[in-house]
Amino acid sequence: MTPSIRQHQDSVTVNVPAETLYAIVSDVTRTGEWSPICTSCWWDDESSAGQVGAWFTGLNELPERTWETRSQVVAAEPGREFAWVVGGKYVRWGFTLTPASTGTVLTESWEFLPEGIVMFGEKYGADADAQIADRTRQALDGIPKTLAAIKRIAESAAGAPEPDSADASAFEAAYQAAQKSLAEGGIPIGAAIARGGEVFASGHNERVQNGDPIAHGEMSALRAAGRQKTYRDTTLYTTLAPCAMCTGTIIQFKIPRVVVGEARTFDGELDLLRSRGVEVVVLDDERCVDMMAAFQDEHPELWAEDIAE
Ligand SMILES: [Zn+2]
Repeated sequence: MTPSIRQHQDSVTVNVPAETLYAIVSDVTRTGEWSPICTSCWWDDESSAGQVGAWFTGLNELPERTWETRSQVVAAEPGREFAWVVGGKYVRWGFTLTPASTGTVLTESWEFLPEGIVMFGEKYGADADAQIADRTRQALDGIPKTLAAIKRIAESAAGAPEPDSADASAFEAAYQAAQKSLAEGGIPIGAAIARGGEVFASGHNERVQNGDPIAHGEMSALRAAGRQKTYRDTTLYTTLAPCAMCTGTIIQFKIPRVVVGEARTFDGELDLLRSRGVEVVVLDDERCVDMMAAFQDEHPELWAEDIAE
């Protein structure tokens, strides 16, 4: 690494909207969650938090030393750019956000400013070049780690909603329906529909029982529910990730939330559901995985028939 490198940047695509991502990267109090060096960070004056001109202080910790730096925000444009300058004039750091087809391209940039070079010369004398090279190495090393951590944090917050308190018992109705189908010699996939935490319909795959190729678990549960004025206040529970047909029905009926037992033995169309604004909770329930894996193992031809393979 030569000390002549004065700026650097790297990018990552994050699967969340730019506004969502901006809210994360502009909250300097969260810096400790993704920075390899800065362990905690706070606004010097809460009343100007997040605004251009505001100052914040970061506590940096390395094995050999601990120090604080103060920085000033120089760009704060929601959904587009958040940047700050260490010491107000020494080193510029920034995030720029660019909407992409599947989310947002997040770029982190770093630039040693001329005044920073002068300051290091005055502070470290003959050792300045080595000190600058050290900071440069930390920046180049840290940027990809920071970007990867932010991607993980943003996508897990946006892409993995948690089950709520009513889900466990409502999901049980879907699981019991799958077990019933299995006991009848059918395909063990069950579904249930709930409103306000109360299950009002359930069903299971009926390919074998009724010779009905369209009667997937979700379709059977919807048929059992009969005519509904609206589905916008419902949650659909299914033991297995919905196929393209059931996904289409969920979108068509405007069901806003789907709780899936597992998506390991069949990954279905979860991304399509998410892309249409449906909240998808994946429980990754071991019982469901075991049930489907055993069935697919014992009846490969029946399983292939159900998913049109
Ligand atoms: Zn289906």
